[in-house]
Amino acid sequence: MSRALEILQNVFGYPEFRGQQAAIVDHVGGGGDALVLMPTGGGKSLCYQIPALLREGTAIVVSPLIALMQDQVAALTEAGVAAAVLNSSLEAREAFQVERDFTAGKLDLLYVAPERLMTPRFLELLERGRVALFAIDEAHCVSQWGHDFRPEYIELSILHERFPGIPRIALTATADDLTRAEIIRRLQLEEAQIFISSFDRPNIRYQIAEKNNARNQLLDFIRANHAGEAGIVYCLSRKKVEETAAWLAAEGVPALPYHAGFDNPTRARHQSRFVNEDGLVICATIAFGMGIDKPDVRFVAHLDLPKSIEAYYQETGRAGRDGTAADAWMAYGLQDVVQQRRMIEEGEADDAYKRVSHGKLDALVGLAESAGCRRVRLLAYFGEASEACGNCDNCLTPPRVWDGTEEAQKALSAVYRSGQRFGAGHLIDILRGNATERVKQLHHDELKTFGVGADRTEMQWRAIFRQLIALGFLEADADAYGAFKLTEAARGVLTGGTRVSLREEAPKAKSSKRGSRGAKPALAPTGPGAPALLEALRAWRKQMATEHGVPAYVIFHDATLAAIASARPRAVDDLHGISGIGATKLQRYGEALLKIVREQAAAQ
Ligand code: ADP
Ligand code: ZN
Repeated sequence: MSRALEILQNVFGYPEFRGQQAAIVDHVGGGGDALVLMPTGGGKSLCYQIPALLREGTAIVVSPLIALMQDQVAALTEAGVAAAVLNSSLEAREAFQVERDFTAGKLDLLYVAPERLMTPRFLELLERGRVALFAIDEAHCVSQWGHDFRPEYIELSILHERFPGIPRIALTATADDLTRAEIIRRLQLEEAQIFISSFDRPNIRYQIAEKNNARNQLLDFIRANHAGEAGIVYCLSRKKVEETAAWLAAEGVPALPYHAGFDNPTRARHQSRFVNEDGLVICATIAFGMGIDKPDVRFVAHLDLPKSIEAYYQETGRAGRDGTAADAWMAYGLQDVVQQRRMIEEGEADDAYKRVSHGKLDALVGLAESAGCRRVRLLAYFGEASEACGNCDNCLTPPRVWDGTEEAQKALSAVYRSGQRFGAGHLIDILRGNATERVKQLHHDELKTFGVGADRTEMQWRAIFRQLIALGFLEADADAYGAFKLTEAARGVLTGGTRVSLREEAPKAKSSKRGSRGAKPALAPTGPGAPALLEALRAWRKQMATEHGVPAYVIFHDATLAAIASARPRAVDDLHGISGIGATKLQRYGEALLKIVREQAAAQ
C-alpha cells in the first residue's frame, strides 16, 4: 500500500481516494506544482493535507477566510495532525508561540491569511523554518473579473520567485477558462500540471417545481424529505427571508434568518448556530454562503429564481458536500421571470451588461422549463457533456410533452388583440371568459379570443404563458410593469408556420426512493433500534462538540454516525472499517462509542 493511502486511512479514516485525489497527492507529494479545479465538496483539502504529511517540513496554506481556516485547523487537530493558524484574531503571545512551533519544525500545516503571508517579517520567518509546500486555496481570488477578487492574492507570485524549489498547489471551484488562465499567469503556474475534475455533483438531486403556494410547497418538501436536517432556503428580499424563517419556526421547523441588513454580531451568531448545531434551517439572501463549508447541509431550496445558472449552481453546490444524498429544490413561477427581468432593466448597468444579464437569465429559465435531464443541461452550460442522470425530477418522473400550438396561438392572439399592455392575470381572464369589472370596462369581453380557453384552468394557462416566455415567443415589458409583448418569433406561431411543443406538469412524487447512479446510500441507518441509537450518538456528539468548542461535524460526520448505528459494533476492531474514523479518533472516542452502543442494546 502506498504511504499516501496509508495516511488517508489511518489519519482521516477514509477507505479510498476520490476522483483525482490520488494523482494530485502523488504529483505534489513528489515535488510538482499543480492547479486543481474541482467542484465544491469534491475534496480539495486532502489534496494538500496529505502531501503536507508526506513531505518534510510544514505546508503553508493561504486562505482568504478566517472562519474557514479555523474550522480546518479544528478538524485537523481532532484527527491528530499538528496544525495551526496565524491571523489577526490571535493575541501577540499566541502568534509568537505559533511562530516558534513553526521554526522548531513542530507543525505539519500552518494556515495564514494572504496579507500576513506577504509581510517582510513573515517571509523571513519562512526562511528560518522548513516549508514542505505552498497551498493557495480559493485561487480564483487573483482574478480581477471575479466577485471574490483579493488584491493581496496578486502578490502571491513572490512565493515562486523567493522559494523557487518548493512545490505549489493552487485550488479553486471556479471552472471557466478565463479565470483559469488568469490564475496561471498571475501565480506563474505555467509549469504546473492541471487537474480538472468533472463538475458534476452526482449526489445532489435537482428538482424544479411549478410554484403555486411556494411556502406550503417548501414545508411539504422539508417535512417529507428533511425533517430534523440542516438546509438553506434562499429568498430574494430581506423581508421575505424574515417572514419565511418566522413562518417555518411557527410550523415547527427550527429556522433562522440571515441577510446583510442584520448587524455583524447577529449575523455571526446565526451563522455559527447554523454551522454548529444539528438540523437548523437558515433562510437567507445570497449574502449567505461564502465560506460555509458545513458538509452536512442536506438541502438547498430556492423560493425565488436566482440570476443565472452560475449563481444557481454555486448556491445549490452548498448541499451535500459530504457526498451523501442531498436535494436542490426550487419553486419557480411566471412572476419570478417578470420580476428578474424588471430588476435587470431597472439596474444602473449599461446596455451591454443588461443584454448579458438577460441572456444569463434566459439560460436559467430554459433549465427550469426543460423537459429533459436537468443535470445534462447544467453540465452542458459549463462545457461538459453527459448522459441522462436518473437523479433529477425530469429523469425520475419524465414530464409529458404535448403539441401546444393551438393553445399558444390563443394566448398570443389574446396578447395581440388586447394591445400588448397586460400581464398574465388579465390575459387569462380574457381567455377563460371571466367577465370581470376590468374586462367589461375595457370591452375585452367583445374580443374574438374572449372565452376561447375556458377548457383550461388558470394554473394551466400560467404554465403556458411561462413557457411561451421561456421559448422566446413573448417578452415581459419591463417599462409597463410586466405587460407581455409579442416577439418577432411569435409571428411564425400565429401564422401557423411554427409548431410549439409544451411540457405538461407531472404531479411530482413527494419522496421517491434514493439510490440512483452516483448517489451514496441515504443517511438513515438500518436495523432494529438503529434510529434510537443514532439519536443517542448525535446527543453524545453534540456534547463532545460543545466541550471541544468545535462544530459537531468536526467530531464525526452524519454518515459516520449512521454507519455506526447500522453496524452496532461490539469491539474496537468492529470500528476499524467505518469511514471517517482515523487512528486518533479511534483512540480518543472508540470506547465512548462502544459504551453508547452497549447501553442502547441494554435499553431495548
Ligand atoms: P472542497 O474543499 O473541495 O469543497 P473538502 O475538502 O471540504 O471539499 O471535502 C468535502 C468533504 O468530503 C469533506 O467533509 C471531506 O472530509 C470529505 N472527503 C474528502 N475526500 C474524501 C475521501 N477520499 N473519502 C471520503 N470523504 C472524503
Ligand atoms: Zn437527470
